[in-house]
Amino acid sequence: MITIEKADRLKQLPPYLFAELDRKKAEVKAKGVDVIDLGVGDPDQPTPDHIIDRMAAAAREPRYHRYPSYSGLNSFREAVSRWYERRVGITLDPRQEVVSLIGSKEGIAHIPLAFVNPGDVVLVPSPAYPVYKIATLFAGGTPYEMPLLEKNGFLPDLAAIPAAILAKAKMMFLNYPNNPTAATATLDFFKEVIALAEKHNIMVCHDFAYSEMTYDGYEAPSFLEIPGAMAVGIEFHSLSKTYNMTGWRIGWAAGNKEIVGGLGQIKSNIDSGIFEAIQIAGITAMEDDAAWLAHMRGIYTERRNVLVQGLRELGIDAHNPKATFYVWAKVPAGYTSAGFVAHLLEKTGIVATPGNGFGDPGEGYFRMALTVAPERLQEALARIKQAGF
Ligand SMILES: *Cc1c(COP(=O)(O)O)cnc(C)c1O
Repeated sequence: MITIEKADRLKQLPPYLFAELDRKKAEVKAKGVDVIDLGVGDPDQPTPDHIIDRMAAAAREPRYHRYPSYSGLNSFREAVSRWYERRVGITLDPRQEVVSLIGSKEGIAHIPLAFVNPGDVVLVPSPAYPVYKIATLFAGGTPYEMPLLEKNGFLPDLAAIPAAILAKAKMMFLNYPNNPTAATATLDFFKEVIALAEKHNIMVCHDFAYSEMTYDGYEAPSFLEIPGAMAVGIEFHSLSKTYNMTGWRIGWAAGNKEIVGGLGQIKSNIDSGIFEAIQIAGITAMEDDAAWLAHMRGIYTERRNVLVQGLRELGIDAHNPKATFYVWAKVPAGYTSAGFVAHLLEKTGIVATPGNGFGDPGEGYFRMALTVAPERLQEALARIKQAGF
């Protein structure tokens, strides 16, 4: 017998706030309730056929069966570079300014290992995708949470970050279009970020996972299109959300070559890249995707309209997102986030995510993902109406 003791890095992890919700969800499902799950940010639709067909053909080619290159196929990184040229209007050197990732989560989780020393501060938004904070902790860094408040359009108030924190800050994570608030960033905000980064020597890591999930003609700006961005930061991106490819694990980081290079150095010592047949399919995904994007946006626009309108008719203050597949809404008066979400699950069999699970400033909100058909959303609304709150 030996004593199995977890490392401090695991012991220091913040409590998993969705544990109680996961338990209740399993309990309700076990009772045979027809659960409508709006909790998970994972597209319900399949990957488009032409991408699957390309993968199937590539999987039969022996040249793709060997260890992939660490930084990604040149052809994949060239496709990323073409994507930036077409979509963002900037030219990237695919050899030095792009690195492939096994999903963007992998790169986000690894980047602090390349640049953060114990004692260094990493600025992370809150509420947020949890990986920014956890990756910082794993690297021994100190996360400083920048609250995303409604009164600021869910953008961090850069002027509110204390000087002593800025002096120790080495890295900043941002994510627009944003999960979970569905907020979008302005070019002016990104300009302020670059000015702050230059002044205080802070690397900026922008998570652009929802770049193409946009509605009503809105086009989300890339951080890298702002003059000066390439000198201070990188952008994380993935095929997961845009092409219904969450299970495939393919993404990239692009931008400043020293930052990209540092991340690549960590990765080459940990993983061995992405199955090349998946990269070949990824190239196909990015090319000639206008019809696909229109189709995908149409699906989510319809769902969004149903849910936002329906919630508002029920008296719930729901934001109408210009981007992402999330609806961020205020919990009705008298409830906490956890209390409302628990009530919803028990009374209606609907799963929503409590805002505080993404960080304290998310208290008072809940998130619903547009990952079910409009008829199911109608059904969810009818149940809420019947149950009351
Ligand atoms: C879904 C999501 C990602 C994408 O993760 P992959 O690892 O590329 O599948 C990244 N950031 C945020 C904020 C997300 O919601």
